[in-house]
Amino acid sequence: MQAEALRTREINGMRVLLVEDSEDEALLLTHELKRAAAEVSWKRVDTPEALRAALNEEEWDLVISDHAMPRFSSEEAFEEVRRCGKDIPFIIYSGTINETAAFAAMAKGVHDFVEKGNVRRLLPVIQREMKTVAQARARVRAENRLHRVAHYDQLTGLPNRQYFCEQAGRLMAECTAGSGATLLFLDVDRFMRINNTFGYAVGDQLVRQVAGRLQSAVSQRGIVTRMGLDDFALLDCSAATEPEGRALVERVMHAFTQAFRLDGREFFLTLSIGACRFPQDGEDIATLLVNAENAMFLAKRNGRNNFQFYVHDPENTSAERLEMETALRHAVRRREFVLHYQPSIDISAQRITAVEALVRWHHPLRGMIAPDKFIPLADETGLIGEIGHWVLFEACAQTRRWHDAGLSGLKVSVNVSAVQFRQCDLVQIVAEALTRTGLAPWCLDLEITETVLMQDADTTIATLLALKAMGVCVSVDDFGTGYSSLAYLKRFPIDTLKIDKSFMRDCTRDGNNAAIVRTVIALAKNLDLESIAEGVETEEQVNFLRAEGCDRLQGYYFSKPLPPDALLDFVQRAGRLLPAGRGDDISAC
Ligand code: C2E
Ligand code: MG
Ligand code: MG
Repeated sequence: MQAEALRTREINGMRVLLVEDSEDEALLLTHELKRAAAEVSWKRVDTPEALRAALNEEEWDLVISDHAMPRFSSEEAFEEVRRCGKDIPFIIYSGTINETAAFAAMAKGVHDFVEKGNVRRLLPVIQREMKTVAQARARVRAENRLHRVAHYDQLTGLPNRQYFCEQAGRLMAECTAGSGATLLFLDVDRFMRINNTFGYAVGDQLVRQVAGRLQSAVSQRGIVTRMGLDDFALLDCSAATEPEGRALVERVMHAFTQAFRLDGREFFLTLSIGACRFPQDGEDIATLLVNAENAMFLAKRNGRNNFQFYVHDPENTSAERLEMETALRHAVRRREFVLHYQPSIDISAQRITAVEALVRWHHPLRGMIAPDKFIPLADETGLIGEIGHWVLFEACAQTRRWHDAGLSGLKVSVNVSAVQFRQCDLVQIVAEALTRTGLAPWCLDLEITETVLMQDADTTIATLLALKAMGVCVSVDDFGTGYSSLAYLKRFPIDTLKIDKSFMRDCTRDGNNAAIVRTVIALAKNLDLESIAEGVETEEQVNFLRAEGCDRLQGYYFSKPLPPDALLDFVQRAGRLLPAGRGDDISAC
């Protein structure tokens, strides 16, 4: 036999399992095989137990079996190979098997039989079988590759959206009556900044790490997918109840408390998470994904690094939202906005020193719409840029008109949303508004939220310093609802803390709220900042705040936000603003 002719790819590297009672026969055969192929590895077994163990523990390309052995036969060996479920070619190599038995064995599935010693025939048979095996393996590999491309995300290796939906459907179908699942929609906060600053290669590596952490947070009955650039969804059937859903969210958030390490750098990433429950919030995966995504938007709106459970709100369905978005775009073009102004009272000066500009949307059909109903949508759609621009110019122009009408020195506060603070060139717009309206910079105060302070402190400080250099004042609005710590606040060039109105509720009775208000006022004094209480509605609150040393008060107790004419009227008749009997005489400016 010309062994050289058989040095083929198919045989080289072959692993052969020999079922043979004679060591000498095995050596003889493997010697022949090794002449034909550079590398052949083999093992000899001669009992059913040894064969079973070899099949279970290792991978084999071929089984060559003797027919009749003292403790074994080729029939038993073939049965054993079949039972292990691996499709391994089986060749009988025997000097004792007669043709009838050999054909019977082949009828059962044995691939071939060769008379012992006939290496000339054995080698082409092996070659043929190995070729078939190689072809089958290549086909399986190609199918696996196709399956991966079609079902998995190339970057993270997670199931792609379509496969996730299929798998999720299957998992949900397995949920028995009374059980359920939690779906999370997760967005990495401010991920685009990482891509923009460090490049997409770093962004990609981080996305991979994020995927890994999410996968480790999900249970065995859960599945994770990447929905978009930095959006993920996760379904977990082990989180059936709301407390279990919350525990899942906490586990995920906890997985992000550790820094992500890459090329010697540390990155701290946070998530905005929307959660909803199957079957309560949707009976199919498409509905659940939409609802969880909407909840995620709410979480983002509430200041990122946050989570929100879906709450069914018929006003906030997708069709309604789309309609609202179109109407808002029209409103921007048609200038359907008006500003109302709410005065605030300086306690020590005992007079109205400032007003806050509060935008309203004068909808042609729906009437006056409050900012809470459309500013978040304006933020999401980017329309806040144009709306905010208009508010700033209008507030400055109106205040300048009041100065000209005799209220000189009246200050105006303008709210700036977190999105607006980041997206627009605020410093330039403010400079332009002041120049064009002729308003003195110290009469303009910009109200930012704690969210702005929490995100990217360095950029925030740079922007605030530029505003301060211009002479503009800065307040932190809704203070107490975010996460700012004392040490944190010190870093920012700000002038005023505006205590959130939620703390006014029962602050004269409720120990908790009273303690918070007291602390914020003391904190402001410590940091040499002015304190304002907003949402002041009762005489009791006024007395409490004055006793605590709050600098300024704003709220319905004095006045609701008013249109410009009514505000002028009000300020001019402002003699009776503080509680009667205290001898205070509040006047304008
Ligand atoms: P904010 O800046 O905290 O404004 C105070 C809100 O409290 C105003 O609601 C005001 O009408 C309300 N308020 C005032 N006094 C009282 C009171 O005694 N009791 C109660 N319960 N509420 C009181 P409004 O006008 O609906 O504005 C809501 C929020 O919308 C504002 O909260 C602000 O965050 C935002 N916003 C308003 N105008 C603008 C704007 O031009 N740009 C941006 N970005 N946001 C704005
Ligand atoms: Mg405000
Ligand atoms: Mg506020």
